[in-house]
Amino acid sequence: MDDGLLSRTAENGNIGPRTYGQNYRHPAGKAAKAQVSELRLMAVHAHPDDESSKGAATTARYAAEGHRVLVVTLTGGERGDILNPAMDRPDVRERVAAVRRQEMARAAEILGVEHSWLGFLDSGLPEGDPLPPVPEGSFAAIPLEGPLERLVTLVRAFRPHVMTTYDENGGYPHPDHIRCHEVSVAAYEAAADHLRFPGAGDPWSVAKLYYNHGFLRERMQLLQDEFARNGRTGPFASWLERWDPEHDHMARRVTTRIECADYFPQRDDALRAHATQIDPTGHFFTAPLEWQRRLWPTEEFELARSRVPVSLPETDLFEGVQ
Ligand SMILES: [Zn+2]
Repeated sequence: MDDGLLSRTAENGNIGPRTYGQNYRHPAGKAAKAQVSELRLMAVHAHPDDESSKGAATTARYAAEGHRVLVVTLTGGERGDILNPAMDRPDVRERVAAVRRQEMARAAEILGVEHSWLGFLDSGLPEGDPLPPVPEGSFAAIPLEGPLERLVTLVRAFRPHVMTTYDENGGYPHPDHIRCHEVSVAAYEAAADHLRFPGAGDPWSVAKLYYNHGFLRERMQLLQDEFARNGRTGPFASWLERWDPEHDHMARRVTTRIECADYFPQRDDALRAHATQIDPTGHFFTAPLEWQRRLWPTEEFELARSRVPVSLPETDLFEGVQ
């Protein structure tokens, strides 16, 4: 949880379900009544394919239930390596940016979501010791203000009730993921502030902001154990050996579990649509869907900020919004 919210809760002296957010302005009046059935979710991601590996089944579920879901991709993924040997060919390498646009369009179609590019340049994952600086002009190298204004414009146009992004560590230490966190949190605040970017549309208060927390050791261990029970060798042994159970730090931050097992096939199909980025024979797809449905039918999130009163834990990102 966001420290500010926790301390505010403590000041309020609440016991039991945590409540906070005194200053929420509901999209008031007639318009709110007319739109009561239409809730809107904006999922902000760094690269094409992130939307299919982080919270994908949740977005597919909300879209299938009749809500509007907009995936925003901040960069074009131009510097991503080609991770699928079958796609590592000169004709693909030459036009990787265009290929990734096509892959993203297909993935959005599979998930049933709307999609928007914010149009920034992938920073790539710096490698080496010491790490080289991110390339000039790339998303993580430019001032925050430009991406912030574009995201605020989009938030004010789409008017999401809920936004999702990554935690302050990026969920994964890629400079674009950390930047994704920074720009999303800043946009959550700035979109509601009429003094910020007055030319970027009417202010809009997003009710809740979440971080994706799908990468959990406990889930990995359960699946690994299931391989063993079935007389098979699971693919996660080296991960689990290096990952101290005491340091499943994301697990401790989870506030919200979304049941979405019915949408796991869509999640996998969407991920496979990013054919340059995912090896269809890779470990992501080795655990049978039946095990995943039975052992871990949810995706996890952390409520980071809220302008509506909430009661934790939750099972719905829109809880408290209506
Ligand atoms: Zn990424």
